[in-house]
Amino acid sequence: MELSFTPEDRAFQKDVQDFIAAHLTPTLARGQALTPSVFSEPEISGPWHRLLHTRGWVAPAWPQQYGGTGWTPAQRWIFETECARAGAPSLSPMGVRMVGPLIIGFGSEAQKAYYLPRMLSGEDYWCQGYSEPGSGSDLASLKTRAVRDGDHYVINGTKIWTTHAHHANRMFALVRTADTPRKQDGISFILIDMTLPGITIRPIHTIGGDHEVNQVFFDDVQVPVSDRVGEENKGWTYGKYLLEFERGGGMNAARLRSRFDNVSRLARGEATGPAIDDPDIARRMAEIDVDIDALDMIELRIMSDLQTGQNPGAVSSLLKLRASEIQQAVTRLGVDVIGYDALYWEPLRPLYALNEPAAIPENELTVVPEYLNRRAYTIFGGTSEVQRDIIAKNMLGL
Ligand SMILES: Cc1cc2nc3c(=O)[nH]c(=O)nc-3n(C[C@H](O)[C@H](O)[C@H](O)COP(=O)(O)OP(=O)(O)OC[C@H]3O[C@@H](n4cnc5c(N)ncnc54)[C@H](O)[C@@H]3O)c2cc1C
Repeated sequence: MELSFTPEDRAFQKDVQDFIAAHLTPTLARGQALTPSVFSEPEISGPWHRLLHTRGWVAPAWPQQYGGTGWTPAQRWIFETECARAGAPSLSPMGVRMVGPLIIGFGSEAQKAYYLPRMLSGEDYWCQGYSEPGSGSDLASLKTRAVRDGDHYVINGTKIWTTHAHHANRMFALVRTADTPRKQDGISFILIDMTLPGITIRPIHTIGGDHEVNQVFFDDVQVPVSDRVGEENKGWTYGKYLLEFERGGGMNAARLRSRFDNVSRLARGEATGPAIDDPDIARRMAEIDVDIDALDMIELRIMSDLQTGQNPGAVSSLLKLRASEIQQAVTRLGVDVIGYDALYWEPLRPLYALNEPAAIPENELTVVPEYLNRRAYTIFGGTSEVQRDIIAKNMLGL
């Protein structure tokens, strides 16, 4: 693995820095800085997505024929790192990073022609309809049913924990199309227009005061059969393929680094006194620092090994596991660094939505909301126990 940059890479880096300097407004940067979550609200991510689209930079991981950038792994790394350093909005992964590669890999030509350009432009905003009450880790037990009626499926059931369903106009979902002895064999993968009659969305407010997740109900929702991806009853295979992109298709280290830098500044006493004098805090900081560097190298190496658009395989579980554990270590450290100040906090979104000044010092503002939000990182996308199972079976051969 060649870790030094070529003159072309340096020129590319300058190009990215110039683009960010010219387009990242203070409002977008503040919106991202006050985002406790994995990706920002559409009012923050949407304008940035459209700016990247005008430059052709929305889908670095796609093959060029579908709108990918054609970048080398080093250029992709540079782009992600520069965006993270500058605090550019993090885009929703559910379209471009998750269902995009699935449609490229298994969709019909009509689906590719219709959905991919809308994904690139940001016209469609996607959510993921996998989990159901009682069907999370045991996803194959899902019960939302799609019954064929001529050239439509009639869908009834419910999905839960659906992130940003209240913003989305599209959902990709796993639905039951047959009752088979092996539950996995009766599932299909379907694309659903969220504006169709019969869909109800109920908000779920989480511990940090955020409205990110929802329960979605389907009552006789009619979806054209042409919106099924791939073969009927083969959805389990497609669903698992997509999960590889969800868990391992992104680069987390650069954003983690900028979150850690905030906590480090607090620990060095800029606002609260030198928490770093506490040997436990100092040791944890050193460990996290090394862990982020290691994750960075693993992500770069895996990306370098893959063809553009290729699925990462079981190593995605390893990446997801490590990234989520480090996320939690960083945010736990943040809370311990600010000590009693952590007792007073407020949800972030209303502040940036209204562009309000905060009652809490700006550099401590995100600490508790991020800590609370990150509790979910070892749950969504498959729990850590599930990832360890996959690593044990598929990587260690146990
Ligand atoms: C913030 C958030 C956002 C989410 N967003 C989405 C979304 O957009 N779309 C979507 O479809 N889903 C989403 N989810 C759902 C998520 O994928 C599930 O919560 C997750 O898969 C766990 O399922 P569960 O909640 O039913 O827990 P359960 O499966 O009931 O697990 C409970 C506990 O038992 C453990 N466990 C279960 N089975 C095993 C096993 N075989 N071996 C060892 N331990 C086991 C689990 O690790 C966990 O600790 C989201 C969840 C959260 C919290």
